Order: sequence, then C-alpha cells, then structure tokens
Amino acid sequence: MDCLFCGIVNGDIPATKRYEDELVIVFDDINPQAPVHQLIIPKQHIATTNDIATEHHALLGHMLQTASVMAKQLEIADDGYRVVTNCNAGAGQTVFHLHMHLLGGRPMHWPPG
Ligand code: 5GP
Ligand code: ZN
Repeated sequence: MDCLFCGIVNGDIPATKRYEDELVIVFDDINPQAPVHQLIIPKQHIATTNDIATEHHALLGHMLQTASVMAKQLEIADDGYRVVTNCNAGAGQTVFHLHMHLLGGRPMHWPPG
C-alpha cells in the first residue's frame, strides 16, 4: 500500500515529530494554516472516519486527548484551538490515512468554508 502517512510512521518519509507513543504520532503539517498546525495520526492505517469501527474507540479517544495535551503544551489551550478531521474529497481530505489537524495560535472563524 502506498500511503504517505504510513511512510512517516515507518520512517521512510521525514517529518518534524512533536510526540510519539505506541498508538499515535504527532508532527508539523508541511503547509501550516495557522501558527500551530500539527497532525495527530494513528500508527495503524485507517483511511477515513468512514472506516472507524468499535475496535478503534480507545484509539480515537487517545488521539483527541493527545490533541488536548499538545494544545496545553503549546499554550494555546486557554485562548482556543480547533481539531479538524476531513472525510473524503468533498470535505478536503487529500491524505487517506486518518488524521486530526490541531490548529491554533490565531482567531478561528466559523463556518470554516
Ligand atoms: P487533509 O487535506 O487530508 O485533511 O490533510 C492532509 C494534510 O497533510 C495537509 O494539511 C497537508 O499540508 C499535509 N501534508 C501533505 N503532505 C505532507 C508531508 O509530506 N508531510 C507533512 N508533514 N504534511 C503533509
Ligand atoms: Zn497509512
């Protein structure tokens, strides 16, 4: 399988890693859309949110908690931040390995467009 983020997980593709444990990796987005723009990905390949199953519940909770921990470390937690997951092309998904965007460090607008 040819997957960019699996390549980051297995070390074939370089990334600026900010956190790693047995379940997830966090790294800087290559094209940041805010002063803080990190990606939280599972080490396991899951293509989109449409592929989330009951067996992934603990993993998904851990990903969201990791976003929260990173936001506190980066001191954007009190001002506010956004956690975004795009599902499929119509929502803007370009890498088909599940990921949460952690965006912060500037005011966020709604609707996101
Ligand atoms: P999506 O559009 O699928 O929601 O988000 C994919 C994100 O991956 C984009 O924000 C894009 O900038 C980022 N990205 C694409 N290729 C690379 C890469 O090679 N390295 C890193 N660090 N980020 C990437
Ligand atoms: Zn993958």
